[in-house]
Amino acid sequence: MTSSERPGLNVAVLYPDLLNLYGDRGNARAIERRCAAREIDVSVTGVDIGDDWSTDQADIVLVGGGQDREQRRVQADLQRRGDDLREYVDDNGVVLAVCGGFQLFGHHYRGWDGEIMEGIGIFDAVAAHPGPKIARCVGNVVALWEGETVVGFENHGGRTYLNEGQEALAEVVSGFGNNGGDGLEGAKVKNAYGTYLHGAVLPKNPLLADRLISLAMTRRYGPEAAELSPLDDSAALRAHAEALHAALSATESALGRRFA
Ligand code: GLN
Repeated sequence: MTSSERPGLNVAVLYPDLLNLYGDRGNARAIERRCAAREIDVSVTGVDIGDDWSTDQADIVLVGGGQDREQRRVQADLQRRGDDLREYVDDNGVVLAVCGGFQLFGHHYRGWDGEIMEGIGIFDAVAAHPGPKIARCVGNVVALWEGETVVGFENHGGRTYLNEGQEALAEVVSGFGNNGGDGLEGAKVKNAYGTYLHGAVLPKNPLLADRLISLAMTRRYGPEAAELSPLDDSAALRAHAEALHAALSATESALGRRFA
């Protein structure tokens, strides 16, 4: 088989220098590595403000988190790409939007200074920062996603509220998630996943990484490409277990009791 016959996926990372809190770019690395182990070629393109890029050839679009200042810097450029990204999601394009990126993929985010940043409305959700005097949502998170644990680290001032009918990605077991109140974490529309989990999230959550790869392979090559060969995930699962332990220990000490 020549390399041109190998399957391939195009991964785009939006604003890799501005929206890259807590190593969110590691999500692209995780996809690359997991695909390489299965002989799936991956090309990763960084998309910066002003770049001539569209979702035409994209299979997975990643966007990370950032401080309010960085979110504000990318906002106009993201608006310009809004129609294209909405059509891509309608057409089952795969997206992972993390924290600040997740907020801007909703309708809007009201930042800590009270000013609204318009989002692109892929998720039927709004986010608002309650102001500089209110504590941020910081710490390790465990959430339940389709009966499996997902783990990550969160640090956000903004709280996200899903409108009625908008599906969450997961349920919070430990940590704040979308807003520290309703027990919901992230959002999901078709193959677009939004989450507050940094970490980066994919290296520690191989099941989630493989879900995104599988959805992208299905969209490009059809249902027979959905099944991915299993990998040796011992290192990833160790990282997962450590994050799980850290999050649950923090919850135990906050509650003053130990889980069974
Ligand atoms: N600036 C946003 C907030 O504080 C997002 C932060 C982040 O991406 N970690 O809510």
